[in-house]
Amino acid sequence: LATTTQAEQFGVIDPPYKDPTVPVEDRVSDLLSRMQLLEKIGQMSQIDRSFASPDVLQNFFIGSVLNGGESAPSTDTTVSEWADMIDGFQRSALSTRLGIPIIYGTDAVHGHNNVYGATVFPHNIGLGAARDENLMVRIGMATALEIRATGIPYTFAPCIAVCRDPRWGRCYESYGEDTELVRKMSKIILGLQGVPPHNHTYGYPFVGTGGNVMACAKHYAGDGGTEGGVNEFNTVASYPEFFKIHMKPYLDALAMGVSTVMASYSSWNGVKMHANEFLLTRVLKQQLGFQGFIITDWEGIDRMTSPPGSDYKNSVKAAINAGIDMVMIPTNYKRFIEDLAELVLRGEVPMDRIDDAVRRILRVKFISGIFDQPMADRSLLGMVGHEKHRELGREAVRKSLVLLRNQKIHNKRKMLPLNRKAPKILVAGTHANNIGYQCGGWTISWAGKSGNTTIGTTILEGIKSKVSKGTQVVFEEKPDQQFIDNNSDFSYAIVVVGEPPYVESLGDNKELTLPADGVETIQNVCEKLKCLVIVVSGRPVVIEPYVEMMDALVAAWLPGSEAGKGIADVIFGDYDFHGKLPRTWFRRVDQLPMNWGDLNYDPLYPFGYGLKMNLSRRSKPRIIPSSSTPKSSASS
Ligand code: BGC
Repeated sequence: LATTTQAEQFGVIDPPYKDPTVPVEDRVSDLLSRMQLLEKIGQMSQIDRSFASPDVLQNFFIGSVLNGGESAPSTDTTVSEWADMIDGFQRSALSTRLGIPIIYGTDAVHGHNNVYGATVFPHNIGLGAARDENLMVRIGMATALEIRATGIPYTFAPCIAVCRDPRWGRCYESYGEDTELVRKMSKIILGLQGVPPHNHTYGYPFVGTGGNVMACAKHYAGDGGTEGGVNEFNTVASYPEFFKIHMKPYLDALAMGVSTVMASYSSWNGVKMHANEFLLTRVLKQQLGFQGFIITDWEGIDRMTSPPGSDYKNSVKAAINAGIDMVMIPTNYKRFIEDLAELVLRGEVPMDRIDDAVRRILRVKFISGIFDQPMADRSLLGMVGHEKHRELGREAVRKSLVLLRNQKIHNKRKMLPLNRKAPKILVAGTHANNIGYQCGGWTISWAGKSGNTTIGTTILEGIKSKVSKGTQVVFEEKPDQQFIDNNSDFSYAIVVVGEPPYVESLGDNKELTLPADGVETIQNVCEKLKCLVIVVSGRPVVIEPYVEMMDALVAAWLPGSEAGKGIADVIFGDYDFHGKLPRTWFRRVDQLPMNWGDLNYDPLYPFGYGLKMNLSRRSKPRIIPSSSTPKSSASS
């Protein structure tokens, strides 16, 4: 307490770091100068919310709390209960000697997806198909508001991986295979954090007003380039190639003032990213000038060795010395704190390094405004699942759909747009009436789930609300041939099939086949009826053997809670298709990895492919009420 003046001690005046009128860097220096080693290490610790009792937060001076995908509060937790929970953690942190607020982080990776009733936007792969930077900013803004409504200031998003192999279980978290596309889509950071002023310094963290949140560019770097698309594995590339493909999106993130960067579990040329002093410190911090903080991934230090945690103290030393600033230690925080303290006392981790880490964390905390307004803003409670956000989700769905095939039927017109006045239509498939399936992983639970997991509109419901009153919509999830034979009077069928939800390594898949019941439904239905097939998946899947039997084929990606409305808007012709493939659609898995620009590139549909219905040429102009958005040309 040597630096605390007597006046401060008696509470007569606040120390400079508590004064919002003092410049950020001065507040940081002032606070840092007052901190003892354990307080510093506490700031570097991010623990899971289930361990964050008042005692733990206070005794260990914990700097950050998170919920992982599996440890989010249950679905019956209301928005204000979320805010109460975060405020509770905050009160504990504020009651410590120095009163440093915590930052709470969550994976709001496609909307505030852990919260029941939040707007779930399409996963990144679908947004990559939409290729609309302005839309990205608006989605970022809406997501930030929903996150803030629950009292949370920080999201572990966006994932700016460049997915070079669709066998990777996280391909849907990537905007696509092309670095330039990913760079454009990273504009979501401007929506999440706010737009920095013109004189903003490159690499310096920025967070705007109370409606914004801290973002996290992840997973640095090369997560999408691992051999065989194996999650958390090794990316082999020369430095120029690695930089060109995987690092460039970070230039954009830094230019936009991203506050944090998450290290990747993966390795580059055999060196774990969590221990990669060259890429973390020399490149990201020194050459590129990043001044926010670098956080590990979940148990990222444990996973530096196999089996995980086997050489923990050495891993801590390697990671912190390489440039890690905050450690996501969901569970064994005591071990981390003790080990790091010992390493510092033994001189194996320099005090300068600790000070640099804490300086970065405090800087982000001051910039985010959390020191000055630590508690949840209750006026935002109504923003979760707000009607305007759902409309935005619907727009995103419309724009993300990619039309891959649209054949002539009856020798005159094409299959799409569908006739909404048909007397009787069949809707079939596992993904037609399943909110959980259309949202995919990272929705309510970590790996996602089947069924009515959150509020939204299923594809079946969207279709029903769009067809004319006289149209009979029959839903049969898995129609067999007999069912079709007994109902020969269908005008046409809509088959919605795809991948069941998955996440991270659980989604690694070498076969990429559609589930057998999906294939069977396509075969049963499309052999007998005019059919539109909608594939709901996080990546291209094996489709070539069945394509010839389809009259139309649409890739819908993982469209989220507003899938039903957005898809119906397009397939019935209120809007034209807009999306272009963000990933090459392969023919066979033995072609993988296959990316645009490869030698012998022979895809089923190339990167950038996407048809239009050309509605304006087909249909007579209609008078559109001024409140609704015009169709085709204007929407694309
Ligand atoms: C994932 C990260 C995520 C973290 C926290 C990890 O398993 O790799 O993307 O942010 O968990 O939930």
